Amino acid sequence: MSDKTTEKFEFKTEVKQLLDLVIHSLYSHKDIFLRELISNASDAIDKRKFQSLTDSSLGLDSYKIKIDRDEKKMLLTISDNGIGMSKEELVDNLGTIARSGTKNFLENIKAEKDSNIDLIGQFGVGFYSAFMVADKIEVISKKVGEDKAYKWISQGEGGFELEDADKAEAGTEVVLFLKKDDKTYLEEYEIKQIVKRYSDFVEHPIVMDIKRNEYPLKDDGDRDYDATPKEVVEEEELNSRKAIWVKSASDVTKEEYNEFYKHLSHDYNDPFKVIHYKAEGTIEFRALLYIPAKSPLNMYHHEDKKGIQLYVKRVFIMDDYANIVPEYLRFIKGVVDSGDLPLNVSREILQQDKHLEKIKKGVVKKILNTLKQLKDKEFDEYCKFYKEFGAVLKEGIHHDDENKDTLSDLTIFKTTKSGNAFKGLSQYVVDMPADQKDIYYLLANSEEEAMKLPVLEAFNKKGYEVLVMTDPVDDWVVSSLLEYQGKKLVAVDKGDVDIADESEKKELDNKKEEYKDLLGYMTKELSANVKEVRFSSRLTNSVSCLVNDQYSITKNMEQMFKAMGQSMPVQKKILELNSEHKLIQVLKKEYESNNNSELVKDYTDLIYQQALIAEGDKLQDPVAFTKKITELMLKGL
Ligand code: ADP
Repeated sequence: MSDKTTEKFEFKTEVKQLLDLVIHSLYSHKDIFLRELISNASDAIDKRKFQSLTDSSLGLDSYKIKIDRDEKKMLLTISDNGIGMSKEELVDNLGTIARSGTKNFLENIKAEKDSNIDLIGQFGVGFYSAFMVADKIEVISKKVGEDKAYKWISQGEGGFELEDADKAEAGTEVVLFLKKDDKTYLEEYEIKQIVKRYSDFVEHPIVMDIKRNEYPLKDDGDRDYDATPKEVVEEEELNSRKAIWVKSASDVTKEEYNEFYKHLSHDYNDPFKVIHYKAEGTIEFRALLYIPAKSPLNMYHHEDKKGIQLYVKRVFIMDDYANIVPEYLRFIKGVVDSGDLPLNVSREILQQDKHLEKIKKGVVKKILNTLKQLKDKEFDEYCKFYKEFGAVLKEGIHHDDENKDTLSDLTIFKTTKSGNAFKGLSQYVVDMPADQKDIYYLLANSEEEAMKLPVLEAFNKKGYEVLVMTDPVDDWVVSSLLEYQGKKLVAVDKGDVDIADESEKKELDNKKEEYKDLLGYMTKELSANVKEVRFSSRLTNSVSCLVNDQYSITKNMEQMFKAMGQSMPVQKKILELNSEHKLIQVLKKEYESNNNSELVKDYTDLIYQQALIAEGDKLQDPVAFTKKITELMLKGL
């Protein structure tokens, strides 16, 4: 065709600006060009399929996206048998930017004057991103149902040209004349990697010719590796195309769910639970989420943010759970796919996107509802989940005010009455005896240790259940929770717990008056170690126990301050005594007969140290303690 006409076009201003930015500022995201071209090709196929619904003559039996490499000429071609573009469409689509907000966007960029800005991430420049790796691009396209094909040619700067072209089949070929430095994009391995990473779940096959050497067969049927091999070319499909999240849940088998989970998470186990749904309403998206069966080793490291992939129309955007769920749901794996989001990879811009905010809200609600249902209907299963992820989930009570009530309902504990089983707060409240006012809890290192503590004696005797909290985060949980269903959360070992009834209180007040002198003496004697010695309503068997001041900080917090290198002033505890105990009565007699008695002094010391031991604390001077015990033993004989 020697009479071929070439028309020259100028790019619209915004295209020029965009191209300039793309070419000069996007090196960290170069790979993305392939994703963008594949995504365009896939959209074109979708459009053709859609049109053929009403005009079947336009349809094909099979659709595909093909990647061709010409190493000698350094050409990389991405072709599709999709809808194709007419001459006008080539000019309009590839010569202007139709997207709304383009002008504003470019002005903002200019105002920022940051040439390194992650532009593709903020805008999703699509087709133009190919100019990052190519110094010339030809687009040969034939629109479905039309006779003529056209070629669009551009070197980026200076506009584009349009020519008639020969193309037998409808569809589009994008030919990239790769830059010298971008030869890597001709490598089989590189292409496969990029396709797997970004476009694995594109619904249409992405194929590439793979060359391999085939050696002739010997007489015995084995290959003859000494002979000259024959080069065979085979078309290989590069993507798995299993976008199972776009199917409806009833069309996906358990095996498919599990396989996809393993692909996503690299977990060896099957997932514990699958949450698969389509949200409709103000914002549409599909979510396929998994709760793993086992918590990974790095659950408490927040650096690795992988876990929930965000797709926009089946095109992978990014893998960062923080866009979709708050930290306390960081164990969730899965995919969220929405057509309502812009093709976008910049976290900063994405995080400001109102749609994404809505998706996030929806996803969190869905996960929490699923957990709630599990807890209500299959409590044993819920406990299995909770053992793995409860400590993480609970963080939400502290961090997510909006869902605090739901999260409180989801929090379960072992209690002094539940044996080894868990109990939810709601059940705890149901089980409370009529005369119990508050919800009682105890922060402890382990259940076994907690169960033996003297502070629990009166609670046990009265039949009051106590939540035993052994996770390090429980400290934060109770300090954020404060109350549940209008009932205060009260630490059994803090301050003045109000569990005595009226007559008990009266009696205790009388005793306090009666023993005033002894208690005063003991307080003075132990003033270096305790704030006060007083009678307790907590004890029924033991002589003494140590409790915290109402406003004192907990052990966990103390440890945290230490870890941060901050010194804490020593926090003195309160030594509480059992007024009914015989030892106290004897001690009173001894003190009254001789208020300078060595025996009273020694006993005071020992009572304090016993309380320390019962708490699992270290004695300041264990040698002196044992010596004193031995002396007393001798006296006793
Ligand atoms: P976007 O895809 O976000 O609209 P692009 O710059 O990547 O932006 O593409 C601009 C337009 O060019 C597309 O909207 C589409 O109409 C057209 N286009 C691009 N690639 C193809 C293709 N392979 N087949 C048909 N049309 C295409």
